[in-house]
Amino acid sequence: MIIINNNVIKKIYRKIKEYDTILIARHVGPDPDAIASTIALRDSIRLTFPNKEVYAIGLSVAKFKFYGVLDKVEPEKCRNSLLMVLDVPNISRVDGIENIEYKEILKIDHHPAEDIKGPVDWTDETSCSTCQMVAELILKSPLKLDSKIASNLYMGIVSDSDRFLLSYTTSKTFKIVYELLKKSHIDFVPLYGYLYDRSIDEIRFQGYLSSNIKITENGLGYIIIPNDIIKEYNVDIATPSNLINNFNYVREIIVWTFITEDVKNKVYKVSIRSRGPIINKTASKYNGGGHKYASGAKLTNEQEIEDFIHDLDNLCEKYKRATISNI
Ligand code: AMP
Repeated sequence: MIIINNNVIKKIYRKIKEYDTILIARHVGPDPDAIASTIALRDSIRLTFPNKEVYAIGLSVAKFKFYGVLDKVEPEKCRNSLLMVLDVPNISRVDGIENIEYKEILKIDHHPAEDIKGPVDWTDETSCSTCQMVAELILKSPLKLDSKIASNLYMGIVSDSDRFLLSYTTSKTFKIVYELLKKSHIDFVPLYGYLYDRSIDEIRFQGYLSSNIKITENGLGYIIIPNDIIKEYNVDIATPSNLINNFNYVREIIVWTFITEDVKNKVYKVSIRSRGPIINKTASKYNGGGHKYASGAKLTNEQEIEDFIHDLDNLCEKYKRATISNI
């Protein structure tokens, strides 16, 4: 049995029991961990408490429909609700809560804490994913599990840990996955078909990124992706962040960033990854945030892009100097 976090898990379970209406929300521009954790938690609460009204909210994303269908909710139904916020630490990035009045907020998240803080809050930066936390909550409380819930949680864990490759993948991750598989008996190999299905356009676009990424002497890899290129390769603005982890373990690069033009919102959407320097402080400076080694930001003009690249390059330079002087 897994024996940590028992107290907060008891408190969360008590809150779930207390409320008749529960909303579950996650961040804008969701990834598999955000979608899978909200749908899995909703389905588990519904299975355990069939009389409660439980909604997983936020904009639907067509390519993630295999995780399950999201809910539309009427704002007036929510006045006495518990809002459970998953996989996001800042209120401004929670999707679908405009016009909604809730009674209490409760967060379950593996990002560094920011402004969301309810009376019950579970932030675990050592967890590889929010799905790992939701799996732990279900495994250690009376919340029920079925094979669909277990499949969603498994896919969220695999996706956010990049197949158990990234830091924050710990012995606890494997222990939770072991318990999840043992209890649910899911056949997990076919699930990779959902997670890793991609088009030849995406592979050709990855070729474009590999051929055009610039690499500085200090080990910063960066590429600015204009809207024309997105169109030419028949991909979308979310594709670069789906591909960014594939540039890990490139010998010449320690920090890498994709800066994608988002014409609709008149910004540049930025993904950043690192194999050494901590990048989320730099991301916060540019309208962003995230994890120590995986962050995002938003840039609005060329000067900001230049400053941002300069800051990341300095970070690499400092890191390189510190690493060499430690040898
Ligand atoms: P991405 O590169 O889009 O996969 O994002 C990497 C991490 O940074 C995720 O944990 C995101 O939730 C977080 N993130 C991305 N964009 C932002 C932003 N504008 N503000 C705060 N966090 C962000």
